[in-house]
Amino acid sequence: MKPRIIFDLDETLGTALVNSDSIVGFNLRQGCLALLEKLQPKYDLILWTVSNRAYLNKMLKAELGKFFKETYSWDEIQQNWKDIRIINGDYLIDDCSYYKKMANQIGLGDRYIIVPAYGDARDEMEPLLWIKIIEQILLSTEP
Ligand SMILES: [Mg+2]
Repeated sequence: MKPRIIFDLDETLGTALVNSDSIVGFNLRQGCLALLEKLQPKYDLILWTVSNRAYLNKMLKAELGKFFKETYSWDEIQQNWKDIRIINGDYLIDDCSYYKKMANQIGLGDRYIIVPAYGDARDEMEPLLWIKIIEQILLSTEP
């Protein structure tokens, strides 16, 4: 069985592309597709967002959809923090540091890879920093 990596959606892989008032697609952040392509042979990729299912399904219609073996939204899991044990995840990649703080309390903090949010100050300065952070951690524990 491959290790399971859970990805957050918004501000981790990109942001919704909005045209006037409606969502027309997903704006992938730099390096996103290359990263997913690289990880897919070695890991099962899971998507977990706290947005609702209707929103998630819209995002999955874009090229992002083909990478994920399972997807979860607020409609399926109503949790204030993403506990990776709920869906048997080995890692969570997310822009929300609160999840790691919670995971630290149960000794799982090293499984939570927190990346700069898409478009924040650190990301603007170094748009591929998020990729470096992920690869550094995953390469050291490569299956
Ligand atoms: Mg997020």
